[in-house]
Amino acid sequence: MTQHSDQRPTMSSRVIPVEPFDLVIFGGTGDLARRKILPGLFRRFCAGQMPPQARVIGAARTDMDTAGFRTMVAEAIKEFSGSYSFTQAKLDAFLARIEYLAIDARGEKGWAELAELMSDEGRVEAYYFSVSPALFGDLAERLQKWGMADASARIVVEKPFGRDLETARALNKTLATYFDESQIYRIDHYLGKETVQNLMAVRFGNMLFEPLWNAQYVDHIQITVAETVGVGGRGEYYDKSGAMRDMVQNHLMQLLCLIAMEPPARFDPDAVRDEKLKVIRALDPVLAHHIIRGQYQAEPMNEAEAPGYRTAVGDARSRTESFIALKTHISNWRWAGTPFYLRTGKRMEARSSEITVVFKETPHSIFSEDAGKHRNVLSIRLQPNEGITLGVTIKEPGPGGMRLIDVPLDMSFAEALEEGAESVDAYERLIMDVIRGNQTLFMRGDEVEAAWGWTDPIIEGWEARNDVPKPYESGSDGPTDSTELMRRDGREWRKVTA
Ligand code: NAD
Repeated sequence: MTQHSDQRPTMSSRVIPVEPFDLVIFGGTGDLARRKILPGLFRRFCAGQMPPQARVIGAARTDMDTAGFRTMVAEAIKEFSGSYSFTQAKLDAFLARIEYLAIDARGEKGWAELAELMSDEGRVEAYYFSVSPALFGDLAERLQKWGMADASARIVVEKPFGRDLETARALNKTLATYFDESQIYRIDHYLGKETVQNLMAVRFGNMLFEPLWNAQYVDHIQITVAETVGVGGRGEYYDKSGAMRDMVQNHLMQLLCLIAMEPPARFDPDAVRDEKLKVIRALDPVLAHHIIRGQYQAEPMNEAEAPGYRTAVGDARSRTESFIALKTHISNWRWAGTPFYLRTGKRMEARSSEITVVFKETPHSIFSEDAGKHRNVLSIRLQPNEGITLGVTIKEPGPGGMRLIDVPLDMSFAEALEEGAESVDAYERLIMDVIRGNQTLFMRGDEVEAAWGWTDPIIEGWEARNDVPKPYESGSDGPTDSTELMRRDGREWRKVTA
């Protein structure tokens, strides 16, 4: 019998161990491995999720032995584990699971040793390609050549997956030469975030929202991913990419898919990904005047430390956008007529990722003074402070007549769940999903291609128009034209707050 209770929920602390595995991290000495992958694996180890036989093998070009790599991993864990507390004994036990091999993705060095290390049967074999995408093909080819690309092997590939439809197709084709689609895990770490999965739970696990989740009741939807950082040391790479390729084509479109998709028949990888693909295929082309691109300016009085975009990338005439806002529509029965506004940028006023569903006004207000002033707003916050808030209208307490105010019904996870409910980092969750063989939160090849198929003409459009991004102040919410994009429609962006 289903239990109903108005008590606070208790979070299941059950950690389900995964099968014994060998995880090879190509690029194990790189930035991503040190900041995310290795600290994430360590947390799973501390949570008791790594079986005793599991091994992590760092493989990179750097000449180093296992002892040297373990020292590097220990330093990375200490540096990038934030407030996570652990003992030296735990760290030592984790380090004992780690090995290292110097390997050349483009040569023969290290491959025979790796093949020998991976020869044990009966374990999950996963290969994380945490290297430049230019090396993905070389790695796949050598894995096959050295007998490691058998049917049970899994590969994890990082973004960027191509820079347009043509390159994404070529990459898919290369990987498909050596691996079946069911073996390829294309990471979009946004999909590993707790709130993103909660979005599906809220939509498809409740009766409350789904009947209202359509153009009849929803006025519009906003998706904002705002960063306070600039391009930093990635200037050269970023300038070839820009906000559209770096953020919209992957992260924002994935969020758009999850918010807009039809309920899948089952929560299984292909059922979910089929529905996401349908959303991308139903996206309208974007009109030129519905796209606002921007470049951040230097911070006044602090130009040396916070230079403007063009200085940061070393190109005084760069036309690459560090900010983009756009309006699009999804041409299907559910969403016809509901605009979707997407916005992302660097050096904005706060670091915040949020999806906002703004519902329509009530058809008739019986409270004449407040007519048209109140709307329900569902805000799904990915970072910081993951959680979901529903704005509802109530009577302002106290005497003085019927005045209405909007108050939040807060579903912040830390509060809703018991104290100590520690959130799991996106990378940890996704790596464990790879070991479990669950592709639900990974992008399928056709999804990635469809996403490029939508973004390519948009990019080609502004390139053909020689469009120059508008400057915007560091620490602002983007160019004023972005505000205007909303104002023209009688709407406004939600304030970007930390
Ligand atoms: P990085 O430059 O810091 O590290 C690259 C790694 O690749 C190093 O370990 C290096 O030894 C190894 N390598 C380079 N050439 C090699 C070769 N010929 N043979 C074997 N190993 C070789 O890069 P990174 O920032 O860790 O990024 C890795 C991948 O992850 C890239 O695809 C990047 O786009 C992606 N990514 C990184 C981040 C991030 O925050 N760093 C975020 C998202 C995606």
